[in-house]
Amino acid sequence: MEIPYKIYLSEKEIPQAWYNVRADMKKKPAPIVNPGTMQPATADELRPVFCDELVKQELDNDTAYIEIPQPIRDFYKMYRPSPLVRAYCLEKALGTPAKIYYKFEGNNTSGSHKLNSAIAQAYYAKQQGLKGVTTETGAGQWGTALSMATAYFGLDCKVYMVKVSYEQKPFRREVMRTYGASVTPSPSDTTNVGRAILAEHPGTGGSLGCAISEAVEAAVTTDGYRYVLGSVLNQVLLHQSVIGLETKAALDKYGIHPDMIIGCAGGGSNLGGLISPFVGEKLRGEADYQIIAVEPASCPSFTRGKYAYDFCDTGHICPLAKMYTLGSNFMPSPNHAGGLRYHGMSTILSELYDQGLMEARSVEQTRVFDAAVQFARVEGILPAPESSHAIRVAIDEAEKCKQTGESKTIVFGLTGTGYFDLVAYQKYNDHEMTDYIPTDDDLKRSLAQLPQQPAF
Ligand SMILES: *Cc1c(COP(=O)(O)O)cnc(C)c1O
Repeated sequence: MEIPYKIYLSEKEIPQAWYNVRADMKKKPAPIVNPGTMQPATADELRPVFCDELVKQELDNDTAYIEIPQPIRDFYKMYRPSPLVRAYCLEKALGTPAKIYYKFEGNNTSGSHKLNSAIAQAYYAKQQGLKGVTTETGAGQWGTALSMATAYFGLDCKVYMVKVSYEQKPFRREVMRTYGASVTPSPSDTTNVGRAILAEHPGTGGSLGCAISEAVEAAVTTDGYRYVLGSVLNQVLLHQSVIGLETKAALDKYGIHPDMIIGCAGGGSNLGGLISPFVGEKLRGEADYQIIAVEPASCPSFTRGKYAYDFCDTGHICPLAKMYTLGSNFMPSPNHAGGLRYHGMSTILSELYDQGLMEARSVEQTRVFDAAVQFARVEGILPAPESSHAIRVAIDEAEKCKQTGESKTIVFGLTGTGYFDLVAYQKYNDHEMTDYIPTDDDLKRSLAQLPQQPAF
């Protein structure tokens, strides 16, 4: 059967339910822990921070399929199903016998997969009768997606944006404001934690950890508000399973069995969503796939981190999670893969990795941009730097097939577009891009500060 350049599904084929891979894991991901009690965080403890329904999803290790409410499916129809593309042009340019497919999630105004979870989280906040939500954003993709979702459901959206990004990425900020969000550079004088940081470090450019602390404080001290997060959490991986379910439906249409599934990993939400249905088959013994997480060499949580309980934020106000981590005080050296700079990793992916169900590679920034430019020139899409980590390894694997003559089928996640990352492309084009890799001593220093581990 001739495979088309783009495999489209119909609107009716948008999944009816998200798939919760935890249900098929015999050994479940480790529970998040309240640092006060050192016991697993309870629903009661989480409800002042997160929406009720999202707390339920966060703690649900058993329900395999969770129905997608109709209003969310209706929103998905505006930009889903997203295409699964056969990269014929890239294959030809590489001269590889490998067959390469990518699932493209950049076809919406926010420019990434983050909208898949933003709309779900906004919906549950609305259902609960809340007035609004707060969040932080670093590079800006999550804040942009959330502002689109809250505009759709008529909710307030307060975004704490890391001050340096606020100043350096005015266009992202304006997209958020256009969709009605209020965007505050963090640290700010609107919260206690912000004021304290400003008093201690006047003129600081802020950090993601500080912005999280401000967003959480704003949520718990403002009536009718909750905090929402765009990655890492179980609920986010659940919502992102729409990516994997559609990918699998498209492949099944043509009887295609991938040998290898590749995705970039920051907090793990796109990769977790893409691989969930495939990992489910692996866990149930129905099929086998090679699964590869790709991370920046500058922030190598899987490949050089430790599997241990750690704080999720630099401000140390959030619960502890057991994950592959570089230490919550780890400061990745400046690089352009903004969305992949988190010190930890989803607890689900951490447990799958620990069980040997997936592997991980780290790649250097300049090689990532080599791949991004090669891809852009033949496939047409200008990829996000984050997504280009997956492109890099897909190309590496296709090159290996050229050596061995194997025609493997490779699927990778193309999570977004790079229109707001042109400063990074400029650095690359001007040959000013460098590769920063933390030393063993750097990692030893931040890992030495891991919190005391729970006794259970
Ligand atoms: C945020 C982001 C990522 C990384 O986040 P994950 O939660 O690991 O998926 C990857 N690609 C793009 C385009 C992003 O915006």
